[in-house]
Order: sequence, then structure tokens, then C-alpha cells
Amino acid sequence: MTSTLLPGNIVYGGPIIEREAQDYRSLGQFVLDKYKGFGDQTVLVDAVSGAEYTANFMHKSIVRLAHILQKLGVKQNDVIGLSSENSVNFALAMFAGFAVGATVAPLNVTYSEREVDHALNLSKPKIIFASKITIDRIAKVASKNKFVKGIIALSGSSKNFKTIYALNEMMDNDKYKTKPEFLSPVSNKNEDVALIVCSSGTTGLPKGVQLTQMNLLATLDSQIQPTMIPMSEITLLTVIPWFHAFGCLTLITTACMGARLVYLPKFEENLFLSAIEKYRVMMAFMVPPLMVFLAKHPIVEKYDLSSLMVLLCGAAPLSRETEDQIKERIGVPFIRQGYGLSESTLSVLVQNDDFCKPGSVGVLKVGIYAKVIDPDTGKLLGANERGELCFKGDGIMKGYIGDTKSTQTAIKDGWLHTGDIGYYDDDFEFFIVDRIKELIKYKGFQVPPAEIEALLLTHEKIKDAAVIGKPDEAAGELPLAFVVKQANVQLTENDVIQFVNEHASPAKRLRGGVIFVDEIPKNPSGKILRRILRNMLKKQKSK
Ligand code: ATP
Ligand code: MG
Repeated sequence: MTSTLLPGNIVYGGPIIEREAQDYRSLGQFVLDKYKGFGDQTVLVDAVSGAEYTANFMHKSIVRLAHILQKLGVKQNDVIGLSSENSVNFALAMFAGFAVGATVAPLNVTYSEREVDHALNLSKPKIIFASKITIDRIAKVASKNKFVKGIIALSGSSKNFKTIYALNEMMDNDKYKTKPEFLSPVSNKNEDVALIVCSSGTTGLPKGVQLTQMNLLATLDSQIQPTMIPMSEITLLTVIPWFHAFGCLTLITTACMGARLVYLPKFEENLFLSAIEKYRVMMAFMVPPLMVFLAKHPIVEKYDLSSLMVLLCGAAPLSRETEDQIKERIGVPFIRQGYGLSESTLSVLVQNDDFCKPGSVGVLKVGIYAKVIDPDTGKLLGANERGELCFKGDGIMKGYIGDTKSTQTAIKDGWLHTGDIGYYDDDFEFFIVDRIKELIKYKGFQVPPAEIEALLLTHEKIKDAAVIGKPDEAAGELPLAFVVKQANVQLTENDVIQFVNEHASPAKRLRGGVIFVDEIPKNPSGKILRRILRNMLKKQKSK
């Protein structure tokens, strides 16, 4: 599908040809019907235990758990929290929540008590599913809030809360058995909230992004396109946490497509590689740090990764060099980048084929509209002009929960203002420059740190790098680089400064200097945590 230009410099990705999910009254019912249709196909595989789960098993268990939720008093549009590493029980809990028409709110398992408290106060769940790695924290915070009525332990248990149910016991207990074993269909409204996902919190506290039934059903229709190979013959691998929008949406999509999804609860080098080898994985969901691992780590050589056909990568910038290194090293024929936000349900820009230009993140997905505006004046810009990327379409969130002010800043006339600077070229290929908030203001110039970082990464003695603006009275800010050297090499501050001087325009010079560090702080999806770097700089100055 090729994009078209509509009046007013609006780019359109074209219509969604096949509607299937959107004709449903509820996401839960759609998932159940899909699982029913896939019968005894294996749909989930736990790469740690080797356990395999069929679609029939999923269907039966979801219906059972949905009955249990109803017996516990969960009604349509009630909120259910879900805090667990990737596991079959995570999937069952989420789909059972959808099956009763409830709103599911996944919670990051690495959240501290303070962060759990923030997230729970946003979504106010009635029931929370927790696993052994989170249950103590969840229980402690829940006991301080009045809205949590019960916790269901997917695994483990805790003494920190009075009403804790064990999932296994309930699933086996006749008390919760209902006859007949089918669920009366729920009917959700389009605007009912199906999911509340927390944004990554790269630029501040995580926001509770409300995705509606329609957001999800429409996104499913845009994702579920006819494929060359039947989906039942495709094995996918994921280690992306399902509590994050990217992970969660890819779980829902693959479930509805009938592929075999092999999952890992967390990244572990050998396990990740041996899972690809053992299950002959064809496609894997990736984030940039995993791509760098495949491109550079010596251990990769020890495994047979020849089954890999496609790597699907998103969440943060991925350099062309890394892409090329992977293709050369392990011979993966296709690498597909995607760009999206929690607020857009899943990706809005995708690389459809191999002809994307270097640095491009691809073209608009079907059903999506885009425009680029001057972030200061709001003026519409044209091809090759850099400005704030804005998107419109059925996947754009309803708003941030409990935060009308931020919602109004983010969505204007149905357009999501991303806070990202980018442009499209004459072929409607899109390029991401950087986040507005992260641009360095040097004199009259706006310098994107991502560009200097990409340049630094091409230096053979540099393993990793991050750039921030160092406050300066005269110039506003000066570009300053944090650099991780490769092992056993000689590299001075002056070498790095000279390298940038030679290869970049004057505004990008590292006038703020270079600080050598052991590691660049990043979140698991590879987003550089610049606020930590800014704090490091402040601390250095006050010494
Ligand atoms: P918060 O909004 O809480 O500060 P966040 O924006 O990092 O955090 P997410 O919704 O997880 O939370 O991430 C969306 C952002 O990730 C986008 O706005 C963009 O900056 C970045 N991003 C996603 N995909 C890509 C990509 N392919 N290339 C570059 N950046 C990307
Ligand atoms: Mg964001």
C-alpha cells in the first residue's frame, strides 16, 4: 500500500481492506472465538519450562477464569490490575479480563513501591493479579488503598494483604465451577477502555494511557493481514515484557493470528539464543539493545540461528549500522523497524519492504493519517521539513486517565501530538530526528542528541554513547557526551571532541566536553535515561 497526500499536507496510509475484529462487540469475544477456531494448535510455549499450550487449553481456561472473576464481583468496565512477568497465567488473566468486558491495567514488574502506588492510584483496580516476583510489593501498597478488594496470586503468595486467592486452587475448586461451561457474551461499547498501559516514563512520571475497545479492534484489523505462509506455521519469539504496550499488543495480535509464540520471562543470553535454535524461531520481537547484542556479542556465534527470517524492532532508535551488522553476521534477510507510542496502541510507522532509505523508520500504516507541524507556531509543514509528528486514526488513545490537562495537550482535534521531531520525504518515508524535550538548545540552534550519538557509535573505539545539553549561561546549553569505551583501548576526551569536529556541523561540537562512564543508563527497551545523566552531571559539578 502506498501513501497518498491529502489536501492540507496530510499524508494518509490508505484504507484497512479487511474488517474482521471491528465487527465484534467485544475484544474478549474476538479473542475467544479466535482461540476456539485454532483448536489443538500450539499457541504459547514457555521457553524456560518447555511447557506448550494449545488454543483449546487457552479457550477453556479463559472461560473458567472469567467465571471466577464474575463470582468475585468483577463487572463490565471494572479495572483489573496485572503485575507479572511473561507467563501463560499473564495471558490467561488478561484475556479473562477482556472476556468479562473489564479494563485490564498491566503494571511494570520493576516498579518500586512508590511507583506501584502511583500506577494503582491512576487506574484504581478492584482486583489485582500478581506473581511471586511482585506480590509482596503489590500487597503492601494495596493494603493502603481502599479500592483494591482482592489479589489473585498467579504464583507465590504474601502476608501483606487480607484477601489473597491462589489462582491454581480456584481453577481446580468446584466452588467456582459453573455449568454450562460457556460464558454469556458481553457487549462493550467502542469507547469502553480495554487497556490502561503505563507509558515508559522516559520524560517524567509514567502516564496511564487508556486504549479503548475500538483502538484495539481496529489495530488488530490493521495488523492481521493475509500472509504468504499460514500463521499456524510461524513461530515467533518474544522477551519484550507484556506489561509494556509493545509487548502487550504483540501478545494480543499473535494470539489472534494463531501463530506459535515462544516467550521468555526475562532476557538471558543463552536462553534467548537456545530458544531460537531449539524452536526454529522465524520471527522475533526486538528492541535496540537486543539488536546490538545480536550484532556484537561473541556468544551469538555458538548458536544456529539460521531459522530467523524477520526481526521486528521498535521502541527506540536503531542505527543502520547495527541492522547491516546483523544481516551480515547471522544472515537474517528481513529487519523491520516500527515506530509507535503507547498512545497510538501499536506502531504507526512501519518498514514494509527492504527499499527503505538509510535512517528511515518506514511508511504510514494503513488507516493512519500523519502531519508535521512547527512545534512553536503550529503551522503545517510539507515534505522534507522537520517538525512535530502528529498522527490520527482509530488506534489513537482515548486520553490519559485522571489527567485532562495532559490529554488536551496531547490530543487536539483528534490528532496525537507525539513530542517527537521528524519529517517525511518525497516518497512519504518517515525519519525520526529526536524528542522535542531532548533537543539541545545551543545559541539559536536546536541540536538533536540522537544524531551526535549515532555519529559517536560509528567510532570503532566507542562502545556506547549518550549526549545531553550542559547548562551554560552564554549559549543556553552545550552538547556534552557520556562515552563508554571499548575494552582495552586508548581514547581521550580530545580524541572524541576532534572526531565530532571533523564529522559534524559546528553547532554539534562537544563544547560541553566528554565524560567517560562504564555504562549508559537505559530502560529495558533501550531508551536512554537522560534524567539520570543530568543528575550525574549536577553531582559532578557540585563536587
Ligand atoms: P513517556 O511518554 O512516559 O515519557 P515514552 O515516550 O518513552 O515515555 P513509550 O510510549 O513507551 O513511552 O514510547 C514512545 C516513544 O518511543 C516515542 O514517542 C519515540 O520517542 C520513541 N520511539 C518508539 N519507536 C521508535 C523508533 N523506531 N525510533 C525512534 N524512537 C522511537
Ligand atoms: Mg511518550
